[in-house]
Amino acid sequence: MTRSIILKKQDRGEADELVVFLSRDLGWLTGVAKNAKRSRIRFGGHLEPFSVVDLTLRLRRKDELVWIDEAQVVGGFLNIRCDLAKVARTAYFLELASVFVPEGHPDTDLFDFLVEFLYTLDTSTPNPLLFILDEIRLLGRLGYAPRFDICPECSNPLEPGTAANFSLSGGGACHLSCVSSQSSENLFLSPSALAVARRGLAMDRESGNRLRLNKTGQGELRRALSAFARYLRGAEINSLLFLEKLYGQ
Ligand SMILES: [Zn+2]
Repeated sequence: MTRSIILKKQDRGEADELVVFLSRDLGWLTGVAKNAKRSRIRFGGHLEPFSVVDLTLRLRRKDELVWIDEAQVVGGFLNIRCDLAKVARTAYFLELASVFVPEGHPDTDLFDFLVEFLYTLDTSTPNPLLFILDEIRLLGRLGYAPRFDICPECSNPLEPGTAANFSLSGGGACHLSCVSSQSSENLFLSPSALAVARRGLAMDRESGNRLRLNKTGQGELRRALSAFARYLRGAEINSLLFLEKLYGQ
């Protein structure tokens, strides 16, 4: 049995379902749940997107698809599934993880981080600033931690009280005087946005509730992270587009 997060499922023929999931021990996999649409006992409602489940798998040789023999829900997250803002955030985080982690590469730290994210989101009111901090942590777990303390261009620290511009190629906030002329993207970060990003990352997730940042500062961080995710991906990220539409950003 392997604990997994379901990303999506789709019909496969008359009775089967094709399921994409992140397994804690095996990484991203695609599996076939035979007769899932008919077998209520083995699968009834246990393969819903964004739920955490225990799957009984049968691995096959020379074939990417595994058989899913049984599924048992561990966390159903009904509060996420009936709230569009929470659905959008979850879809975005899982898409980031699926884009940057190839199939069959298990990462237990990443898995545990995502499960904790789901439980927190399910039981709390969405907080845009905490989401931004979680997004920075997630990018870090995926190997792309953006920096907000050292300028990637000159390697000197960003002094408190100074503004910066987010450098996509440098992967972090850089001095306004170090912005290269080739970089046309204006991703300005005010001193307060930088300070909150730095402080938020230095504290644990729950203490982040104490942080405050006005809408302008949040918008600056949001724009920088969205642009960075797209830059890393090298293409559009559908769930990010959905998230932005939802927030009118
Ligand atoms: Zn610099």
